[in-house]
Amino acid sequence: MYTELEMLIDGAWTLGAGSRRLQVLNPANEQVLGELPVAEREDLERTLAAVAGAQAGWAATLPKERCRILRGAAEIMRGQLDEIGRHMTLEQGKPLGEAKMEAAVGADILEWYAEEGKRAYGRVIPPSMPTVLHQMMVKEPVGPVAAFTPWNFPVVTPARKIGGALAAGCALIIKPSEETPAGALAIARALEEAGLPKGVLNVIFGIPAKISEHLIASDIIKKISFTGSVPVGKHLTRLAADGMKRVTMELGGHGPVIVFDDVDVEKAAAMSVAGKFRNAGQVCVSPTRFFVQEKSYGDFVDAFTQKAKALKVGDGLEAGTQMGPLANARRLDAIDGLVRDAVERGAKLKTGGERIGNSGFFYAPTVLAEVPDDAKVMNDEPFGPVAPIVPFKTFDEAVHQANRLPFGLAGYAFTNSAETSAKIGAALQTGLVGLNSFTISMPETPFGGMKESGYGSEGGIEGLDAYLATKFITQSGAV
Ligand code: NAD
Repeated sequence: MYTELEMLIDGAWTLGAGSRRLQVLNPANEQVLGELPVAEREDLERTLAAVAGAQAGWAATLPKERCRILRGAAEIMRGQLDEIGRHMTLEQGKPLGEAKMEAAVGADILEWYAEEGKRAYGRVIPPSMPTVLHQMMVKEPVGPVAAFTPWNFPVVTPARKIGGALAAGCALIIKPSEETPAGALAIARALEEAGLPKGVLNVIFGIPAKISEHLIASDIIKKISFTGSVPVGKHLTRLAADGMKRVTMELGGHGPVIVFDDVDVEKAAAMSVAGKFRNAGQVCVSPTRFFVQEKSYGDFVDAFTQKAKALKVGDGLEAGTQMGPLANARRLDAIDGLVRDAVERGAKLKTGGERIGNSGFFYAPTVLAEVPDDAKVMNDEPFGPVAPIVPFKTFDEAVHQANRLPFGLAGYAFTNSAETSAKIGAALQTGLVGLNSFTISMPETPFGGMKESGYGSEGGIEGLDAYLATKFITQSGAV
């Protein structure tokens, strides 16, 4: 039914040195799917030794050979989409169709990096000094990486980090979420089958704070890549600063959606509902604050509410399910708290606002209208199936609202005016902007935030560059 839960250390599948175990739950029924080993200090030391030992060999491996292995793994994953998707739905809750699609995208990411790894180009720079024969910049793998991934995209997020690091010639240790371990394990098994040398990729689980502290403090680790919440990202960045280590931080957001009067309200509402409730809203680039120009406001709220009400919520393995449960009990409590707070402050509850049933972490798709700015849901990243919708009058007012928070990950706007489109694209203080679109994450495009949403990009050529160090070499004549 579910996958075998183990760690990969130095090419060997293991339950580790200790006997502690963590339970993995099915969020649709709260049943235990399996028990996950916990990496103890001894395991962490072995893992560090493994990447230290593997780094030079992998960096020296021809890009063409690295490409062959990554492409091979992508093909193996493509043959296992049903199984990988099913495991993801069991542990994370998302509908099976969404899960299989994610598994396919994970394979595409590995394949994209496989190809791009051959193009880690440097630059020849014409000298300005007469004594200099050659000046050049070369890119080198930055060295062993420690990567940490969360529970909302168990395949895509590990694939970005594993693909980028391996293509660039870096060995890595990844600690996926203990709540959703199967995706990263599937990638690791595919890479192993495709011929990845031992020690180049290591997968461990355990107590997140203990593991990150231990790995980041080690001289062996040269680069940290984290996806998760802003507070944890700041904490890990502080730890990395002690060793002046490079970081990529892909953190939370609070995605504004600005709907101007000139669009088809029905179409914009349909796209917004699909975007909002994907993965039950547990997406870092989820649209989370809807600002709708006043003429269209009433119609948009009505259309959005009607479509949200019609969503079929259920076990992700059941045919027809459009939204699964929340991934864990923490999210259920957090969402309920945000909705109650908004209603207490005067927001109008249009639909939802309650847990569904008492087994599994199901929460009804929720729409809140006329939500005041001081409501928590307008300020804290909701990370769940709740959509606050607020009216606005002018372009400047909408921009002020969109840019008001310290986050800057994704921002969206709907307009059919070329001028408004260009202006809003420039005005949004976010690393990702979707204009008449919620599709902002592709293997070939950069993905990352501004402000407190993080630092650096994953995906695209920027995602490879994140694992490369820049070296300048100058050469003069004989001495
Ligand atoms: P959390 O802040 O406890 O954890 C977020 C992630 O960081 C988890 O995967 C966790 O395992 C990991 N983590 C926590 N402490 C760590 C540490 N000291 N070292 C290494 N990793 C550590 O919150 P949560 O309840 O799991 O998730 C809730 C919040 O996290 C959401 O509100 C959302 O803002 C954020 N989140 C963001 C993303 C994203 O894609 N950017 C994904 C998941 C969660």
